[in-house]
Amino acid sequence: MSRIIPDTAVIGGGLHGLSAALHLARAGRRVVVLERSWVGRHASGATAAGVRTLGRDLAEVPISLEAMDMWHRIETIVGDSCGFHSYGQIRVAEFDDHLPALEKRADAMRQHGYSHEEMIDRSELRRLVPALSPHCVGALVARRDGAADPHRTIHAFRRSCEARGVVIHEGCGVTAIEQRGSDWHIRTGEQEFTVPVIVNAAGAWAARLAAMVGDVIPLGLKASMMIATERLAPLLDPVVSVVGRSLSFKQSDQGTLVIGGGLQGSADIDTLKSTVNFIELAKGAQAATDLFPSVRDVRIARTWAGMEAKTKDLLPVVGPSPNAPGVFHAFGFSGHGFQLVPVIGSIISDLVVQGETRRHISPFSAERLMTTRAAA
Ligand SMILES: Cc1cc2nc3c(=O)[nH]c(=O)nc-3n(C[C@H](O)[C@H](O)[C@H](O)COP(=O)(O)OP(=O)(O)OC[C@H]3O[C@@H](n4cnc5c(N)ncnc54)[C@H](O)[C@@H]3O)c2cc1C
Repeated sequence: MSRIIPDTAVIGGGLHGLSAALHLARAGRRVVVLERSWVGRHASGATAAGVRTLGRDLAEVPISLEAMDMWHRIETIVGDSCGFHSYGQIRVAEFDDHLPALEKRADAMRQHGYSHEEMIDRSELRRLVPALSPHCVGALVARRDGAADPHRTIHAFRRSCEARGVVIHEGCGVTAIEQRGSDWHIRTGEQEFTVPVIVNAAGAWAARLAAMVGDVIPLGLKASMMIATERLAPLLDPVVSVVGRSLSFKQSDQGTLVIGGGLQGSADIDTLKSTVNFIELAKGAQAATDLFPSVRDVRIARTWAGMEAKTKDLLPVVGPSPNAPGVFHAFGFSGHGFQLVPVIGSIISDLVVQGETRRHISPFSAERLMTTRAAA
């Protein structure tokens, strides 16, 4: 049997790599995914999996709304619900002086023609989240938002990729890339691949991969932390965040509370390890019990931190390499890339296959972050 020769290598088997691979394979490309550890090992396996348009940077709103439509029909894309529920995301004002910031945001969104973020008063807030402490005075809500199950999502994207003929190599870390004519030659520990197209979806390590093809893209690092508790009886449906504190609070289908919100631990991209800072994490637990006093005695079952790249404007890098023809970047999601997964794969596929996309991606160009341009 003849071996299929790939024409596209996706580096990184996180959700963005898988989504790009899936859309590319559907568009007729022969795709390999090269993953150093195992699929979902890093940010995509550590994520809180909030599916949130609420509070997005204006530059991200159009693709985020498109992604939200895709989440609402995710079963038609990957053959599984991914555990997605559209119970809404709510940003709570605890006190009256928190309301103006939320009202300003709602006005700004309206002025830009968006209606998906809506102010609600205390009584509607209580109706949506009866377990919330009565001291909270109002909120901004995006009712079509929600959350998914991260591991179910990874499995669904992986299965769909493999059903479309994508070959996934795990334990296959890329160590060097060199240009050979119009192709790229990729070295890994044991195997070598020669392809005309590379997608760099290497998460926290993406700047290193970019540097291998001549793009110097400065990136920071995030090590967001999470708490999962023991299982409880149903407490709330929407995902709740709060003005002025780092908190994202939801209940999984299994009954566990999943508490995050961007509190930072530490991470080391050389050793591939991220570490929880319990003193910081306690602030998240405090915010959770302030907002939901009934969970004060609930036991914490697990904590973790996951790492990913952060850009200086907290917008991702999505688009062609400025220096390396045939190389496309998709990284730097800065703590909020899960929701964008379906649409980014589609954008990358358009760029590779058609050479353009109808989406407005100039705010995500690599050039905006680059300090030096490699010689042509
Ligand atoms: C704790 C936490 C909570 C989050 N919560 C949310 C949320 O609620 N909502 C939301 O929208 N987003 C959230 N995010 C962000 C979201 O999870 C990420 O933006 C998204 O998962 C990034 O996916 P990725 O595929 O780009 O990166 P990753 O999943 O990190 O995948 C990158 C992959 O590249 C591989 N790789 C790196 N270097 C190489 C190499 N040289 N060769 C081969 N492979 C390589 C890595 O092993 C890794 O598997 C959260 C993130 C974290 C950490």
